[in-house]
Amino acid sequence: MSLRMSSLFLRTLREDPVDAELPSHRLLVRAGYIRRAAPGIYSWLPLGYRVLRNIERIVREEMDAMGAQEVHFPALLPREPYEASNRWTEYGDNIFRLKDRKDADYLLGPTHEEMFTLLVKDLYSSYKDLPLSLYQIQTKYRDEPRPRAGILRGREFVMKDSYSFDVSDEAFLDSYNAHRGAYIKIFDRLGFDYVIVAAMSGAMGGSASEEFLATAANGEDTYVRCSSCDYAANVEAVRVPVPARSAYDDVPIAHAEETPDTPTIETLVDHLNQKFPRDDGREWQPGDTLKNVVVTVVHPDGIREPLAVGVPGDRDIDVKRLGAQLEPAEVEAFTDADFAKRPRLVKGYIGPGALGTDRSSKVRYLLDPRIVEGTRWVTGADEAGRHVLDLVAGRDFTGDGVIEAADVRAGDACPNCGGALETARGIEMGHIFQLGRRFAEALDLKVLDENGKLVTVTMGSYGVGVSRAVGAIAENTHDELGLVWPREVAPADVHVLATGKGAEVFETADRLAGELEAAGLTVLYDDRRKVSPGVKFKDAELIGVPTIVVVGRGLGDGVVEVQDRATGERVNVPVEAAVGHLIGVVRGD
Ligand code: ATP
Ligand code: MG
Repeated sequence: MSLRMSSLFLRTLREDPVDAELPSHRLLVRAGYIRRAAPGIYSWLPLGYRVLRNIERIVREEMDAMGAQEVHFPALLPREPYEASNRWTEYGDNIFRLKDRKDADYLLGPTHEEMFTLLVKDLYSSYKDLPLSLYQIQTKYRDEPRPRAGILRGREFVMKDSYSFDVSDEAFLDSYNAHRGAYIKIFDRLGFDYVIVAAMSGAMGGSASEEFLATAANGEDTYVRCSSCDYAANVEAVRVPVPARSAYDDVPIAHAEETPDTPTIETLVDHLNQKFPRDDGREWQPGDTLKNVVVTVVHPDGIREPLAVGVPGDRDIDVKRLGAQLEPAEVEAFTDADFAKRPRLVKGYIGPGALGTDRSSKVRYLLDPRIVEGTRWVTGADEAGRHVLDLVAGRDFTGDGVIEAADVRAGDACPNCGGALETARGIEMGHIFQLGRRFAEALDLKVLDENGKLVTVTMGSYGVGVSRAVGAIAENTHDELGLVWPREVAPADVHVLATGKGAEVFETADRLAGELEAAGLTVLYDDRRKVSPGVKFKDAELIGVPTIVVVGRGLGDGVVEVQDRATGERVNVPVEAAVGHLIGVVRGD
């Protein structure tokens, strides 16, 4: 396979694209891998398309090796199956909907659980047909509210999605573990740093759920890792350890006090320390206060509902964590207009007295798991400038339930062993999860079991972001000079540069490129006649093929220079030994 720079459809750019914030996005555009067609929608140019197809190949090989079978669904799908699963409604603004000439509703598939379930229902009817794993590599469409970083979060993107079908939960575990093993092989081969973390199952329901995250300082996901045990989880999925209930027999009766001009936790804590010193000798801390934050929850059917969340005053609400608990509903800020409609809620001084579905204000009230029975709080008295002290959870107030919405911080206790958690960021590359029977039930996928009884099939759903992987690998492996591709995904095996004017340079480089190709390597060959060596070096660094071969000045001594793009290491190799040497490098000998 040969790619000649003199004719390759490629223009590298010196300037960064104006809309690109992340290095991977800037470099992929500058190196001529992708071009933007519309917000979150990209075209693939020759080099980028080669990387994309390499990733597809790796994914396909490992999925086939684990026994999954490849199928291919349309992207244009009818409404009815999604209506049956309720996702036509749940997806809200997040899917592209369209109508045909007869006014029938269609959508562009965001993910295909319904279609796979119906296909298996069409053809299979017995436990003997199972287990079954099917997959496809296909273009997906989601009208993301915030397309980001080029292909990292696109509105059109390529995903490998697979689905497993089993007769029981025990059998499902084997399918899940087979997928998990295949994913480990895929991500090892892709050649970048990743972690496996416990995850939320989101709109899908189900329980077992893990994500494969590429470690990246610019990643959208935050995850925690325990410094003492092997616990790792997306922050969305972290469960705060629940403290033991404490005795409160000697806590005085709750009393409201004047606390003028204390709308923030800091002003309140200062005021408490001045006017209401504690009897145990320590100072008041933000964590002694109970902060009640009100948001608007927007349900997929459009219904808007106020929701109050109570957290210790030293914590903030983590909007992503809150959102993950409430999916598929979405969260919006509670505006001044919303406050005006609910005079019982006094901004800055909201207390449990005005919250809870059993109260006059009828605002659903969910509490952080740390607010257990017996804990003692200072909180708003539902009047401007007043707070209640000695308010005891379980004695003086209760919530309508518990919610994990407070931010998780480095140093927090590990829910598994109590050790200290560390936080880091990553990009979600893959997600494997237990669907359970949600789709099989909604679409009536049943098989006869060994005893001739009809049972609902249990399913798993597994995704790999194939186009996202191009961006995530670039984000994970680039350096200040340009892209640096891991060998298996690189657009070529070697990049040969003819640098110099003499006929000998081009003759030698032509011959070398030809021999490497004959040996089965993919060669990107910079055979441009009127381009300076400096420009060729810069382009090679930007494009990021793992091995660069410079045919030029060294020819006087009978050598070419072989550079390792990742390490910068350079060795001179005699011209006649170059092919053998390079085959060894590419094979990793
Ligand atoms: P995210 O939380 O990042 O929005 P998701 O949880 O909605 O992703 P899944 O439905 O689990 O995504 O999809 C499987 C995989 O598809 C993800 O792990 C990710 O790699 C990829 N993916 C999802 N959304 C996008 C997107 N908008 N652009 C590119 N890849 C995506
Ligand atoms: Mg996911």
